[in-house]
Amino acid sequence: MKQRKCQGCKQLKSADLMHKITREYKSGEVFLNPSSKILGRSAYICKNKECIKAALKKKTLKNALKINDLTQIEQELLNIIVES
Ligand SMILES: [Zn+2]
Repeated sequence: MKQRKCQGCKQLKSADLMHKITREYKSGEVFLNPSSKILGRSAYICKNKECIKAALKKKTLKNALKINDLTQIEQELLNIIVES
């Protein structure tokens, strides 16, 4: 099982236990990418509130994706927090 580093807690975990967030190569848009259908630069976050909040607050997600504006995906991630 492939391991990926969480952008919140920085721990290595199995990728299928995490949210995958990808900046698509062609469009530069950022998506939640659970099925890995979107090709691009990806970052991973554990599926818990603390790690999502930490990744947004510390701007590690921006750095990992090399993007300045995460407004769209931030809202999606915050919606996940509300739903869980
Ligand atoms: Zn984490």
